[in-house]
Amino acid sequence: MSEWLQLEKQCNECKKCSLWENRKNVVIGRGNKTAAFMLIGEAPGEEEDIQGRAFVGRAGQLLSMALSAMGIEEDNYYICNIIKCRPKNNRTPYEQEIQECLPYLDRQIELVQPEVIVLLGNTAAASLIDKNIRITQQRGTWHEYKGIPVMLTYHPAALLRDESKKIDMWRDLKNAWKRLQTA
Ligand code: SF4
Repeated sequence: MSEWLQLEKQCNECKKCSLWENRKNVVIGRGNKTAAFMLIGEAPGEEEDIQGRAFVGRAGQLLSMALSAMGIEEDNYYICNIIKCRPKNNRTPYEQEIQECLPYLDRQIELVQPEVIVLLGNTAAASLIDKNIRITQQRGTWHEYKGIPVMLTYHPAALLRDESKKIDMWRDLKNAWKRLQTA
């Protein structure tokens, strides 16, 4: 069995935290599994849970459109979440759930081997970089995770609530993509 199939099997059978009880599907990730550009969000929403695909709801569609407008198509990136099962009513995942799920994300990063990672929103940034990060203050800044350069930006769901964040998010995505081109 390939390493990806092993990981997918582990995720699909996982009952490590209580989120398995209400899931319709485990949402592992989508896109190019060998892409140099990786985006990581918080957790699956309702549509993602139904389809079993990451970032396919309204927020995900907005992000895909923004990336496509920059010439970044699905084949150019891999996208997933910190948490693989949907928290009920889209609540923020609890710390214990994040810790239980994180080994799957770390394995995804090992397999994809991205050269640049973009973290989308507070939960992703707090989980991988620093618990005290506030995305409103630190978006657009570079950090590092396991030796890989990491750009912080808003979660696209925040843009659905506040359109004025779009310009900053577009700028962050462009900068991250540009770093990849000059790496
Ligand atoms: S959220 Fe992660 S740790 Fe929890 S049951 Fe789903 S796959 Fe397992």
